[in-house]
Amino acid sequence: MRPTRRVVDLDALCENYLFARSVHGGRALAVVKADAYGHGALACARALESVADGLAVAFLDEAVALCEGGICSPILILEGVFSPAELRVAVNLGLWLVIHHDEQIRMLEKSGPVPAGVNVWLKIDSGMRRAGFAPEEASRAYDRLMQTGKVRSITLMTHFACADEPDDPMTRRQIECFDRATAALPGPRSLCNSAGLLWWPEARKDWGRPGIMLYGAEPGGRSVPELRPVMTFESRIFAVRTLEAGDSLGYGASYTAPSRKRIGLVCAGYADGYPQSAPNGTPVAVDGQRTVLLGRVSMDMLTVDLTDLPDADVGSTVELWGRTIRVNVVAAAAGRSVYELLCGTKRAPVEHRSDRTAGKQSRTTPSALSSGLAGRAAERIASG
Ligand SMILES: *Cc1c(COP(=O)(O)O)cnc(C)c1O
Repeated sequence: MRPTRRVVDLDALCENYLFARSVHGGRALAVVKADAYGHGALACARALESVADGLAVAFLDEAVALCEGGICSPILILEGVFSPAELRVAVNLGLWLVIHHDEQIRMLEKSGPVPAGVNVWLKIDSGMRRAGFAPEEASRAYDRLMQTGKVRSITLMTHFACADEPDDPMTRRQIECFDRATAALPGPRSLCNSAGLLWWPEARKDWGRPGIMLYGAEPGGRSVPELRPVMTFESRIFAVRTLEAGDSLGYGASYTAPSRKRIGLVCAGYADGYPQSAPNGTPVAVDGQRTVLLGRVSMDMLTVDLTDLPDADVGSTVELWGRTIRVNVVAAAAGRSVYELLCGTKRAPVEHRSDRTAGKQSRTTPSALSSGLAGRAAERIASG
């Protein structure tokens, strides 16, 4: 098998979750949308289930896959449902639903009876102008939801546009807007993504919604030393060659050797999710030693400088990002976001590791389907 792979440290994931929740206070949903930001949603959800108050995904199909994998924790669908058929599935599985526009309330009004009631998160647009009810509509939407008789509880939520820029006054305006819009409404509140909970103490309320920080990546420029890297994205050297002074390397001949250089060829490229925009000089680690990328990243291959690493050779391990080279550093060098880098690593096989359950974590057992999803739905609702 090709040696390029993502090794995911589930213990670090759980520790980052506990750190996020301790910073936020109250409870926290672990956000595992987009295949847990490229870390494998089911394995991450199984590890998190022992510590987390609940999980969040973007779409119904992501939640269904977790239910089928045997996950019993509460699961919030951050974009809510898109059709009456989706609503039926969500209700039957006991999923929690974000409601952010009138059509979703209408679907609930027209649905059949919901004896246990749905746990609803009512999303207020406090200034991002993407999804959510306008502040002046919050009370009306709240009342209309209560009048359906199908709602078990309402959590009030909003989402920040600029929380990763701690000096941007936008976040303070959003907090004030949300507080004004919801002043007369009862129920728990949820404002914070990772950046919000790290850098905006006044926004920490009843529920946090950390995503990126669980995976050991900082949402903005400031470093957070407590976060442990979760994904090691690694490959190997499969050939070594020498460039003479004046030789240029790779597509676009974007690197010309100023002197004799020893080059390692690595069998990973932008099709594996390593950013093509990473320039000459982007750090990588070979057998734990720091060196740099040279030449343009190809689809299935990239090239690194081994001139000062005489012991490195065919078979040497290359860390593209992980403990030695933080993903934030690669993202900054490539002019991309850590979110995009982590989510983009789909081709490489993923391997999950945990010392707590020594090797048992990596297999997915689709046994829950036969064991009855309805019973699991009951558990999910009861724990809400
Ligand atoms: C993705 C998402 C989060 C998590 O955001 P991070 O920046 O990854 O912490 C929280 N809330 C909502 C509504 C989201 O869509």
